[in-house]
Amino acid sequence: MKYNHLQQQDPAVWAIIEKEEQRQNDELELIASENYVSPAVLEAMATVLTNKYSEGYAGHRYYGGNAVIDEIELLAIDRVKQLFQAEHVNVQPLSGSPANAAVYMAFLNPGDKVLGLKLDHGGHLSHGHKVNFSGRLYNFVQYGVNDKTGVIDMDEVREIALREKPKMIVAGFSAYSREIDWQKFKDIADEVGAYTFADIAHIAGLIAGKQIKNPVPIFDVVSTTTHKTLRGPRGAIIMCKEKYAKQINSAVFPGMQGGPHDHITAAKAVAFGEALRPEFIEYSKQIILNAQAMAQEFIDRGYRIISGGTDNHLMVIDLSAKSSVGKEAERTLEKIGISVSRSTIPNDPNPPMNPSGIRIGTPAVTTRGMKEEEMKLIVSYIDEALENKENDLKLNNLKEKVKLLCAEFPIPTK
Ligand SMILES: *Cc1c(COP(=O)(O)O)cnc(C)c1O
Repeated sequence: MKYNHLQQQDPAVWAIIEKEEQRQNDELELIASENYVSPAVLEAMATVLTNKYSEGYAGHRYYGGNAVIDEIELLAIDRVKQLFQAEHVNVQPLSGSPANAAVYMAFLNPGDKVLGLKLDHGGHLSHGHKVNFSGRLYNFVQYGVNDKTGVIDMDEVREIALREKPKMIVAGFSAYSREIDWQKFKDIADEVGAYTFADIAHIAGLIAGKQIKNPVPIFDVVSTTTHKTLRGPRGAIIMCKEKYAKQINSAVFPGMQGGPHDHITAAKAVAFGEALRPEFIEYSKQIILNAQAMAQEFIDRGYRIISGGTDNHLMVIDLSAKSSVGKEAERTLEKIGISVSRSTIPNDPNPPMNPSGIRIGTPAVTTRGMKEEEMKLIVSYIDEALENKENDLKLNNLKEKVKLLCAEFPIPTK
C-alpha cells in the first residue's frame, strides 16, 4: 500500500505496518476466522468518514451534519437486505461480541435462560461461556455434538429445550464443520415458545455466496461479523424481522454503543457490494472445495477430522493420533510461516489453553487464488512439519517452500 504521509510523519508506525504487510504476504493464513479484504475495502476504511459523530439512525441523529452519513448507512443496509433477504438491518455493531450483547439485551432480561452450543464443541465465548458477559448475565444451558458422529444432535437439542424451556435458542458456531438445520431449530423453538437467534459470524460469506442455507428468512434475529468469510472490514451487523426492528436498534444505540464507525460502515457497504457480484458465488464455492480437498488430504495422512469432514470453510483436527497437541502444533507451524489456531475437540481431555486440536480454514488462501492442488501441498507441508517438529533444518526448508508458494499468490493490496 502507499502511505506517503504516514511514512514521512511517523516512520516508526509506518515501518511496523509495512512489516506486517510483508508477513501477511510471505505467510499462509489458515485461521478460519481471517481473510484479506480488497483494496477497495481498505481504501474506504482510510477516509474522512472517521471524523464524524452520528449517534442515532438515518433521519434521527443526535448530531448535525449527518445527511451524507445517512446516505452511506442506508446504502449499506440496502445491500445487506439484498444479500440475505433481511427485513430489518442494523449495520452499526462494532464487532461480533458487542452485536451479540445487543441481541441479548434486545430480547432478554439478566437471568433469563438461553440455550447455546458448548464452547468446547464449537460454540463461541459469547454463547454463554462463564468467563464471558453472556455467561455472567444470562442463565445459559448448553447443547453439544454427538460423541460418535461429531454432529449436533437435534434430538438432544429438543430434549434440553423441552426440559429447560429457554427464552431464546442460539444456533451458530466458531468451530463446527457441518451444515446447521435452521428449520429444525425453529421448529424446536416454536414448540417451547423461544426466540431464535442465529450467529452466522463464520459462514455469512458462504450464505451470501449461496453455498449454505440462509437462516435470515426463518429466524427472529441473526447476527454476523463482517470480517470473516464475508471479507469486509472488522465489524458486525444484526438482521431481524421487522417487528423487532425497534428493540434491536435501541439495544445497539443507546443500549450498547455510542457513535457508529462511519468509515467502517462505508467499508462494509463496499464489501456487501462485492458479495453481491457473481464472482462471490464462485469464491464461496471454491472456499468449500478447498476445505474439502484439505480435509481429505489430512484424512489420507492419518489425521482425525471431527465429524469426518466438512460442509463449509473449516475443519477441526484432532492431533492425538499424531501424539501432538494444539499449542505445540500452532508453534511448530508458526515456525514455517503457517498460522492456525489451536482448538478444543469435543469433550477435550486437555485444558482450553492447550487443547488437543487445531482449527483450519480456507477463506484467506482462497482469496489469494489458491485451489485444490495448493491445498494438498499445504497439508503436506503441515504434516512434514508436525512429523519433524524438532528438526530446525527441515522446518527452515519448509518455511522457504511456504514463502515460494505465497509469492505465486500475492495478497490483494494494490
Ligand atoms: C468471531 C465470532 C464472534 C465474535 O466476533 P468478534 O468480532 O471477534 O467480537 C461471535 N460469534 C461467533 C460465532 C464468532 O465466530
